[in-house]
Amino acid sequence: MKILIIEDETRIALTLKKTLELEDHQVKIAFDSDKGLGLAKDKSLDLIIMDLMLPGKYDGISLTKHLRNIKVNTPILMLTALDDVKNKVKGLSSGADDYLPKPFSLSELQARIKALSKRPKQIVGPILKIDDLTLDTSSNIVKRNGQVIKLSSKEYRLLSYLMFNKNQIISKDKIISHLWNDESFVVKNTIEVYIGYLRKKIDKAFPLKPELIHTVRGFGYKIGLKK
Ligand code: CA
Repeated sequence: MKILIIEDETRIALTLKKTLELEDHQVKIAFDSDKGLGLAKDKSLDLIIMDLMLPGKYDGISLTKHLRNIKVNTPILMLTALDDVKNKVKGLSSGADDYLPKPFSLSELQARIKALSKRPKQIVGPILKIDDLTLDTSSNIVKRNGQVIKLSSKEYRLLSYLMFNKNQIISKDKIISHLWNDESFVVKNTIEVYIGYLRKKIDKAFPLKPELIHTVRGFGYKIGLKK
């Protein structure tokens, strides 16, 4: 594959390049968005790996939008800082095909690249998956055990927030600021109520399946296979 890396952190860019070259990919690096834009116009590229925060005229989101506007449809894998879930979602709606939160392991990156390389070159959101629970970020369809689960929009946003951060403990405060940012008065009990709704639909409805939503007492919530 021909891969372009747009990343200003030299260490990350060079490590990526080295790793990908060991797998026989051809790799170019741009250390800022201006050079990145120039190189990204090469239609023979198979993949662009782009950091969200970039020096130069564009950041990752505006560069992605610009590329899509000028009909560059190369799959884009966006690298994002760990906490920036809102930006991840923004990154995806700007036309990126997938995102990978930093810090990431190289094996995780390789798995994403494999998945993207199998995809036709078009704009699709990722499908988040934990065990047999899937959340399709393009169609907003949630399924467990092949069964479609109906969620309210708040439940959907809460679930996707947890799934974007799977296996990480998410505090109630974080959930409040992410989901209720424009409503000033939210008591923490509200979160418990919504977690309760999700549990009912995701876990309790599937008693033979492992529980996925966990309460980490005193800290918050976590979604994943093991407690
Ligand atoms: Ca950066």
